[in-house]
Amino acid sequence: MSASAYEPVIGLEIHVQLKTRTKMFCGCELSFGDPPNTHTCPVCLGLPGALPVLNAKAVHYALMVGMALDCELTPRSIFHRKNYFYPDSPKGYQISQYDIPICGAGRLGDVRIHRAHLEEDAAKLIHLGGTGRIHGASESVVDFNRGGTPLVEIVTEPDVRSAAQAREWLTLLRTTLRQLGVSDVNMDEGSLRCDANVSIRPAGSDVLGTKTELKNMNSFRYLERGVEAEIARQIAIVEAGGEVIQETLHYDPTTRSAGGAPGAISSLRSKEEAHDYRYFPEPDLVPLVLEERMLEAARAELPELPAQRAERYEQELGLSADTARLFAFRSELGDYYELAAAAAGTSAEPQVLANWISGELVARIGDSDPAASKVTPGAIAQLVVLLRGKQIQPGAAKQVLDALVADGGEPEAIVAALGLGAIGGADELAEVVARALESDPAAVEKLRAGNMKAIGPIVGFVMRETKGRADGGEVNRLVREQLGL
Ligand code: ADP
Ligand code: ZN
Ligand code: MG
Repeated sequence: MSASAYEPVIGLEIHVQLKTRTKMFCGCELSFGDPPNTHTCPVCLGLPGALPVLNAKAVHYALMVGMALDCELTPRSIFHRKNYFYPDSPKGYQISQYDIPICGAGRLGDVRIHRAHLEEDAAKLIHLGGTGRIHGASESVVDFNRGGTPLVEIVTEPDVRSAAQAREWLTLLRTTLRQLGVSDVNMDEGSLRCDANVSIRPAGSDVLGTKTELKNMNSFRYLERGVEAEIARQIAIVEAGGEVIQETLHYDPTTRSAGGAPGAISSLRSKEEAHDYRYFPEPDLVPLVLEERMLEAARAELPELPAQRAERYEQELGLSADTARLFAFRSELGDYYELAAAAAGTSAEPQVLANWISGELVARIGDSDPAASKVTPGAIAQLVVLLRGKQIQPGAAKQVLDALVADGGEPEAIVAALGLGAIGGADELAEVVARALESDPAAVEKLRAGNMKAIGPIVGFVMRETKGRADGGEVNRLVREQLGL
């Protein structure tokens, strides 16, 4: 079977570090990049007898996340101990939420949310490699600064169908979380971390296949590439008559797989080695009961979120779905567009103005913020209004935009200074068309024979001669008229 005979099924688990001032269950300040083990106390070091106190701000942020993801909020949720032994967890367990999370079912864009819960981050293990002093072999050390950082873990339903969709959806999630202001959402620094569960099934089937869990994707590119590589690996196994086994995998983007594809996938543990965490309710914390004032406080702080913004652009302004998403996901483009639209009023078509920003302007300024460019929202609005009034032609408008990007200024003044106004008299244009036809007898012959594609070079000649100031439709009409077609 070909690759298209299989449908990939992907569910994501995302850990988000919350930007609270202090840790989840103690008063230690959060720090990133401070000297190791300078933000610790008996609680986050797991010393005997130390008792946790829940951080109210972390709850507030979790509620904002839950509301933004349209989750059902749980009136009374519970913390559990997830038991495991590892040096990054001094207590021997992580305090997490298990069967009753603070946020239940929800949705963001085209992906359903299974749940979102609060938990504490582990400490950071630093692997020193072969420089160890104790055994001379590899040695690892622990930095407890990160231990106890508040996390929200978001678990999606298996609704994602491709690696590209996983990446795009994670971008939407990141923008949403950033807009909420609850996290730095930085994948390099680990404040946003994503694991992907991947399976394949015959296209058209609605049964879930055996999944693997892919860890360690610390950038959007690696997420997309890792998931792609894993889908290919599973298809190859099934094609060869084998069976995918349930396991946890590590994706290493820096190496190559046996087949030569970038990014090797290796097994961390199989189902048999899977942990039994022996969850039980945390006896040192009372249930988390939501009060109306907590919900009101969270609601009051919700900004307009990307998904709502995209909807508003599509429904109210009639922008295309693609443009609406672009402006919503890259909010600096959306902000700029709204200023330009306000300046243009009813004198510009919303989609045309949007295209000049998302197409021509972005092509010239790349990923940078248009507000920091020399092109004011008013200037690009005026340019589009001039175009609509046929005072300039598209080719000339592009030259005006070049000038705006380079030096700023007003489109009308630039048009006048560079002589880029649309050709006024039909006579002037007719004269240029006549010269164009004269210069290219071969094209004229083809045109007479009915091959209208041959008009390309003629139009090109006219645009060159007029510096893009001619109206393409008018040139077309004049060519037909002069050739008697
Ligand atoms: P586990 O018990 O292994 O933790 P869960 O059912 O809790 O599995 O699901 C964990 C994640 O895996 C969720 O994001 C879910 O959407 C996803 N998932 C579950 N089954 C599949 C599957 N067959 N293929 C892809 N993703 C899946
Ligand atoms: Zn502490
Ligand atoms: Mg699970």
